[in-house]
Amino acid sequence: MKTDGAGESFDLVVIGGGPGGYVAAIRAAQLGWRTLCVDRHGRPGGTCLLEGCIPSKTLLETARLFREAQHLVEEHGIEESKLSLDVKTMMERKEKVVDGLSQGIAHLFRKAGVEFVTGEARVEGPGAVAITSGGHERKVKAERILLAVGSRPAELFLLPVDGHRILHSGHVLSFKRVPRHLIIVGGGVIGLELGSLWLRLGSKVTVVEMLPEILPGMDQTLVRHLTRQLRKEGMQFLTGVHLVRVIEDEDGISLVYRDREDREEVLAGTRILVSAGRVPNSDVAGIPQLGLLKDAQGRLLVDDQYATSVPGIYAIGDLTPGPMLAHRASEEGIVMVERAAGLQRDNVRLDTIPQVLYTDPELAAVGLTEEQARQQGLEVVTGSFPLQANGRARSMGKAEGLVKVVARAEDNRLLGVHILAPHAGEWLSTATLAIKKGMTAQELGRLICPHPSLAEALKEAAMAAGGKAIHL
Ligand code: FAD
Repeated sequence: MKTDGAGESFDLVVIGGGPGGYVAAIRAAQLGWRTLCVDRHGRPGGTCLLEGCIPSKTLLETARLFREAQHLVEEHGIEESKLSLDVKTMMERKEKVVDGLSQGIAHLFRKAGVEFVTGEARVEGPGAVAITSGGHERKVKAERILLAVGSRPAELFLLPVDGHRILHSGHVLSFKRVPRHLIIVGGGVIGLELGSLWLRLGSKVTVVEMLPEILPGMDQTLVRHLTRQLRKEGMQFLTGVHLVRVIEDEDGISLVYRDREDREEVLAGTRILVSAGRVPNSDVAGIPQLGLLKDAQGRLLVDDQYATSVPGIYAIGDLTPGPMLAHRASEEGIVMVERAAGLQRDNVRLDTIPQVLYTDPELAAVGLTEEQARQQGLEVVTGSFPLQANGRARSMGKAEGLVKVVARAEDNRLLGVHILAPHAGEWLSTATLAIKKGMTAQELGRLICPHPSLAEALKEAAMAAGGKAIHL
């Protein structure tokens, strides 16, 4: 291999061009640092842009429109011609969206002065990175190295992903045709989003979950509402089951499992999505040789400067403990750089990181659920407001949903807000700000919202948790 040993120097070398890494690189360059960002993919964006958040939401939008168009006649009296779906066009649109956004990041890199390099990066020691690409190795020196190498799908011993019948999320976002029966192993956020996507486009979808409930960690009242709606649409759920083995034949693939009564059952499908969580990429980029401190799940431990246990080496995003979400990675990237530059920045509070499940309706949440608050020994008051009593939701014909506000009984301080509603992810931010600012439910209930708007349901739920709602 030809090596370029000149060893150019940078203030920051970022390994990984995902939402953590690319945002950190731009911020560093804005502050005047000489910055290099390297990713093994030929284009920046990481898991989120290339095979996660953006492609999934782009396809979900097509699925939403496809389903809504089927209901135009019965609900609105709008005549339609026969509907059909061209998967190729849908996938081309997704690729166009992804490509446009990736080019946008490349443009931002050029504007800020970040050098982007395609290649496999390896940390050789503090301050030293080797980048391999096409049989050529380039060595660079770095004042600081930021590891933002993200995560990958977790594997299940019984279901080795082969890209043909047993798949991970990336494969499911690139299907060439609608699968007849998609079995989803894992009832978490990614599994449910991808399940509702293909369900709407015509697949039979069965979600198989080993735990007694799907979506553990989310408000179980709202989860029950959502499950009811997904069942109405045709999604099937098998919970509390144990996988035994898979059987493949020419027609498809069957999952053999033991149900709650310990009976052996067989579920025949055409494709299986393994959606059993994600694992940190802490075994790449020379990380194992560095001897960095990790937790039991292999995530790198960092301090409040995002510094690892080796001086000069930092880590953020999915590689470190915390919710595996793009916006957490991005904010940590900014805070890491700004603190290293000597700027004052608050910690990224994990309790104010919102999470959205992009089904229809969306399930959006920030802060503690009622269950979590009680487990922490807190006395709570809650307020709920059904969308059935919200004028905007009724006018949209989308009144299946609920807003729930959780507050501390002692002083009415907001602990959590949970919304099951159309576009919930768009209007959750008001609640995020309220929790961040330490507001009470009563104060949030005094917010003046436009009428008619969905956000009025948030106001009313907060009023209920702070005393009494008006429209209940
Ligand atoms: P990543 O985005 O994983 O980026 C890491 C980058 O490092 C990758 O591009 C990889 O190529 C590169 N890399 C790794 N090793 C090396 C090496 N040795 N040399 C060079 N490059 C290397 N999150 C949300 O917030 N909202 C959503 O709606 C959402 N939807 C999702 C849907 C799906 C299907 C999936 C899979 C994930 C979704 N996520 C979502 C999660 C989100 O994608 C991740 O939390 C986020 O991408 C993590 O960002 P990151 O910067 O830590 O790492």
